[in-house]
Amino acid sequence: METKKILIEDREHIEDALLIEAAQILREGGLVAFPTETVYGLGGNALDEKASEKIYAAKGRPSDNPLIAHVSCIEEVEPLVSRIPEAGRRLMEAYWPGPLTLIFPKSKQVPYATTGGLETVAIRMPSDPVAQRLIALAGVPVAAPSANTSGRPSPTTAQHVWDDLAGRIDMIIDGGPVGIGLESTIIDVSGPVPTVLRPGAVTMEMLEDTLGKVAIDPAILGPMAEGERPKAPGMKYKHYAPKADLTLVEPSGTQTDAMTAEVRRLALEAGKAGRRVGIICTDESRQCYADVAGALIRSIGSRREPSSVAHNLYRVLREFDDLEADCIFSESFPQDHLGQAIMNRLSKAAAYHIVRV
Ligand code: AMP
Ligand code: MG
Repeated sequence: METKKILIEDREHIEDALLIEAAQILREGGLVAFPTETVYGLGGNALDEKASEKIYAAKGRPSDNPLIAHVSCIEEVEPLVSRIPEAGRRLMEAYWPGPLTLIFPKSKQVPYATTGGLETVAIRMPSDPVAQRLIALAGVPVAAPSANTSGRPSPTTAQHVWDDLAGRIDMIIDGGPVGIGLESTIIDVSGPVPTVLRPGAVTMEMLEDTLGKVAIDPAILGPMAEGERPKAPGMKYKHYAPKADLTLVEPSGTQTDAMTAEVRRLALEAGKAGRRVGIICTDESRQCYADVAGALIRSIGSRREPSSVAHNLYRVLREFDDLEADCIFSESFPQDHLGQAIMNRLSKAAAYHIVRV
């Protein structure tokens, strides 16, 4: 299949003419990758089982891993759900459009092919102007998981999508690099206690501000024990993984000196063993590794600006894939606010291989 590419140069004044063909592809059951404020999504009509099946096939994604339906306004939620719990209504008012996905009890309209066989449906209204306009023009809810091959780091540029999916989907809309760089927060409001299933840019602290106490799925905090099942089926799969073995070094307190010393020691040791070594550092610590000969050193952002770390995380992991690193050693981040989402993604990418100092 030939994959078409559309470039949106002026994101503030999008001409509908540029998106009409993409919207028609979606309506007719085809697949279009498009930018959102979180990561690039691979879109298909959420009400069309065949389109959902195509999404799973293009990504190589297990079909029990449900998709998020994207809408362009709150009114579009009603037909997809059997009821809107009060907590859901409050969160939609507070954080939509934006990087927050809500799990509702589904209506009959939503096929099980989209929900991975579940009685619930995940819904989000993105704030990205390209995503919003495209969904509105399509006139259907758009299922859109991250537009990467399953298991690879999520795409934050159209080039990442092209690298993974060219020839497998109908179109890629290039709207430039995304803003946030991590997937949406997911919160389940279908049960008695609102429960966070995946941390993201709408943080625990923000959700608690709106709802009071919220619960957190244990799958977010660490590896699942044998026989345990995460509530978000996607969380059980090895995810976000670079090709190299990634090791995280975590300090016991707030001091970063012992952490950088350990990253440096591990990198030197692996280099001596003949391995191609990568180091994930920050703008503040780059000079700590200046003498680690031969290491591929990449800053993931500034500790003073956690949003810069989120923004660069998947790009840096992909860069190490391209550079064919054998092993990567990474610094850790405090787990509050956006740091919780950053550490969730890094820990999963490291398959929970964490060295504590
Ligand atoms: P992605 O779109 O690739 O970021 O993945 C979507 C995530 O949402 C996956 O981890 C899914 O398991 C989760 N998800 C989607 N629908 C549901 C649902 N109905 N219940 C629980 N988790 C869901
Ligand atoms: Mg994904």
